Amino acid sequence: MSLLTVRDLVVRFDTHHGPVHAVDGVSFDLNEGETLGIVGESGSGKSVTSLAVLGLVPRPPGVIGTGSSIRFRGRELLGLETSELRRIRGAEISMIFQDPMTSLNPLLTVGRQLTEVLEVHRGTSRREARERSARGLGDVGIPGPEAALDSYPHELSGGMRQRVMIAMALLLEPAILFADEPTTALDVTIQAQILELMRDMQRRHGMSIVFITHDLGVVAGTTDRMLVLYAGRVAESASTRALFAQPAHPYTRGLLASVPTLNGDPDAPLSSIPGSPPLGGGGGEACAFAPRCPLVQARCRNEQPPLVAGRAEHVAACFEADFTEAAR
Ligand code: SF4
Repeated sequence: MSLLTVRDLVVRFDTHHGPVHAVDGVSFDLNEGETLGIVGESGSGKSVTSLAVLGLVPRPPGVIGTGSSIRFRGRELLGLETSELRRIRGAEISMIFQDPMTSLNPLLTVGRQLTEVLEVHRGTSRREARERSARGLGDVGIPGPEAALDSYPHELSGGMRQRVMIAMALLLEPAILFADEPTTALDVTIQAQILELMRDMQRRHGMSIVFITHDLGVVAGTTDRMLVLYAGRVAESASTRALFAQPAHPYTRGLLASVPTLNGDPDAPLSSIPGSPPLGGGGGEACAFAPRCPLVQARCRNEQPPLVAGRAEHVAACFEADFTEAAR
């Protein structure tokens, strides 16, 4: 059953240099207990999509399209009163950001920041909030959680701060957790621990997770489905298995080809996609990927390719979408 339904999401930022079309007609569903990966390079619209769901797009300069819809448990979130949105955010839909140092308040102890969540959202007494916060820190593998409550963020390592962020995000047992590049700032050993921790938390709490990342290695072993964004539009969407086995869009193939493999030639240069994503968002009436695409044709520069369907909910926005063979 779809817990979150996003339809035709459009987010534009009106800047001094003109409008930036950050998200341009993105649609997706998130089912209960499912893990969805949203993948793309910087500027693909993946983070703005999650901010829009959480009602955190600053307006102005942000503008949400009038035809856009974000439904949580069937209820439209766009247009809700700020107070109601605040209640849903944190309690029902929570988020972990990339850098915990910018999300945690450096002037408050970890304990104060955790207990405040329970006091504000649940009306929990300070004493009980402290007990539950210590349990939360213990659940995410922080040794000596009682002592950690009295620490300031700068006294903890990067991995520990990220665990605090996860504990804070899970404190209210949200139905959906958005994790925006949750392991990018960490070294690979800690990265693996944090990913395993999130999987464990998902098993225990039965929540849905949206992983936002540029790292296909992270989503490969973690997600059920993937949404590949390019210049604010959906380039491809499929089950993770289908997308890795049979990428249909040239952009997805380029992303997959640029992931280093253990059995590749160690002396061969790493593959990359030439050029960079367009500044200012989508490609108007053209395919936004056309300037970088090895399969580009004349029509790609004049027409926007529609999403075409392959098998089993595998879709790709490309005139040359190839669902029939593993084209990596
Ligand atoms: S529509 Fe054309 S330019 Fe765009 S990805 Fe497909 S082949 Fe490449």
